[in-house]
Order: sequence, then C-alpha cells, then structure tokens
Amino acid sequence: MSPLLARLRAHLARRSPDGAASPSASRDADAPTGRTGAVEAIDVDEFASYHAQAMENYRPLAAPFHLYRQFIHAIEELERVRVLPMHRFVRDRDGSRRTIVFRHDVDADPGMALRCARFLASRGLPGSFYLLHTAQYYGVFRGSTFIRNPALRPLVRALIVCGCEIGLHNDALGAFLFSGVDGPAHVAGEIAWLRSQGAGVRGTVAHNSAPVYRAANSEIFAGRRLWPRDARSADGRALPLEVLDERALGLEYEGTLAIARDPAVPDEARAYCEAGPGGGVRSEAWMRTFLTGNPTCRWDVDMQVWPVGCGRWVVAGRSAAGGIFHWSVELDVVLDALRRLPDGARCMVVIHPEYFMAD
Ligand SMILES: [Zn+2]
Repeated sequence: MSPLLARLRAHLARRSPDGAASPSASRDADAPTGRTGAVEAIDVDEFASYHAQAMENYRPLAAPFHLYRQFIHAIEELERVRVLPMHRFVRDRDGSRRTIVFRHDVDADPGMALRCARFLASRGLPGSFYLLHTAQYYGVFRGSTFIRNPALRPLVRALIVCGCEIGLHNDALGAFLFSGVDGPAHVAGEIAWLRSQGAGVRGTVAHNSAPVYRAANSEIFAGRRLWPRDARSADGRALPLEVLDERALGLEYEGTLAIARDPAVPDEARAYCEAGPGGGVRSEAWMRTFLTGNPTCRWDVDMQVWPVGCGRWVVAGRSAAGGIFHWSVELDVVLDALRRLPDGARCMVVIHPEYFMAD
C-alpha cells in the first residue's frame, strides 16, 4: 500500500460513521500540506463513480466488443502479415511482409482495455497499452500531491498477466497546464512507478494533439521539438519542451511516430495549433489534416487505422498511387486497404478501447 493511501485509510478509519471528522482525529505529522483538511479533500466516491461517468460519455459513440474481436480475427486471416508490439514495430523491418501494431491509447476505459488485452492474449497476439496518468482511473492531483486510484495497481498487474506491452500515455502538458505541477517530472515519476509494479515500460505515446496545448506532449523529450519556437499555451505560459532525456529514462521510442517536417513550416504549424483541435476525431476535415497534411509533423508509418466510434473507421496513409484517406468507413474498407499494402509496409492501428464498450 502506498504511504498516501495508508494515510487516507487511517484517516477514514478515524471518521465517525456519518462522515464527520472525529473530534479525536489528530493531525498527520507528514500530511501533504501539514493540515488534516488536505487529507479530507480526497473524495473516494470520485474514483468509484468514474466508470459510470465514462460509460455515460462514451456509450453513445461505442460499438459492441464483438467488432474488436471481428477486426482481430480478420487481421489473423490476412496473408503475409505479422503483428508486433510497439517496441519491436519501431525498429524491426521485414521487406517480405506487412507489419501491424495494435496501439491502445487508454484514455477513458481501463476495463475495456483489459478486455482487449485478454482477448489478444487468447489469440497469442501482442498489443501495446498506454495508461493515461492524467485520467481519473489512474489518479488525481490534490494540490501538488498525486493520489493514484486504488484500482490502478490491480489493473497494471492484470495487464502484465496478459503479457501485453505497457507504456505511459504521456500528458505532461495537460498535467502542467491544468494541475499546475511539473508535468515532465510527473511523467518520469509514473514511468518509474509502473516499472516498480513490474511493467517493463519501454516507451510513451503522447496524448492529445498539438492544437490542444499548442505543442505535442511528445515535445517534452529532448530532440522531439516539432518546429523551432518559443512555445506558449493559449494563456501565455511557457511550455516545458525538451526537458526530459528519453535515453536516460530508459525509453526506446515515442509511439505517436511523429517526426518533425523537414523543412519545418513554422507559420503553418503555428496557425494550425492556434486554430485548436476543432471537432477532433469526429470531424472529417480535421482528421484528414491531422493524419495526411499535418503542418506540425509527418508520421513514420505507411498507414494508420483508427476506429472512431459507432463501428466506423478512418484509414490514412500513402500508397504507390498517392495518399489514402478513407473517412468513417466500415471494416471491409479497412481490410481492403490493408490487403493493398505492399510487402514491407508498416501499419499502426490506434485503438481507444472505450469505443468498444457498447456491450
Ligand atoms: Zn489519448
């Protein structure tokens, strides 16, 4: 048990049944702010109600889980295809086959992520899962103190049992801008914590896109600044870019596979970021620009496949005939695009597990 959770439990044990602080409750000598009140601000119900909130938010957009299974089975049927975890996908090239990675960005539904991981394990396939440290299923900030959700540790252990790759879904800039903490330090700390739980974290995947914060979360790493500028948030705060060293942290890759454009186009990149994220994955125009004409970066992959809810998919990439962009298509179009990939091509499937929670 973490010292903080132990303090929380000890504190709750001292409370009277109606929830009022017991008169005998004494101040914790090492309480985060030196005041009992700071401990009282921890609301366990907030964690307990999280899943119901996520269900309410995402269920209207979700497809039933059998579509995930159907997709995986269809991949298994393809010829000359191999599936690799991200840490191998980024470096292993094979000109005789198509290579696919299943990247799971666990934004909102860890239970569904675990269901995906267990299904992949049952098929003997690798999957890569990135846990979002700023999501409530992971933890919450109270002042500068980070309180991990009590359900997080069992989640990590269950994912480890599945044999999947586990990494951090990096939201350093979100932690910095919305919680007022040292976001990159928080990222480094959570990588260390995940490893202390037995997860062999080899990489991160940046959460959100550059227009959300006016910089990509991947830019906190040295050498990953997408274009030269004095990066500031919409409210003028200097963003902490290039402050972490991936090699020193034992990280082997950044799994969005974003690469700076060469040459950079600073005016276009700035305008793109200042316009904001717009409709995001719900907008055809926005996704087309994000995936096929992004002024901030290009993608080190031949094709990306994104399930975007309601059983619909987006396919984007390049082929011998030029650019590919299929918006809001059904699975047969995705599979047809995969069959057309030449040998040696690399395809990244970006899965938000919450889009498969409808049953
Ligand atoms: Zn995300």
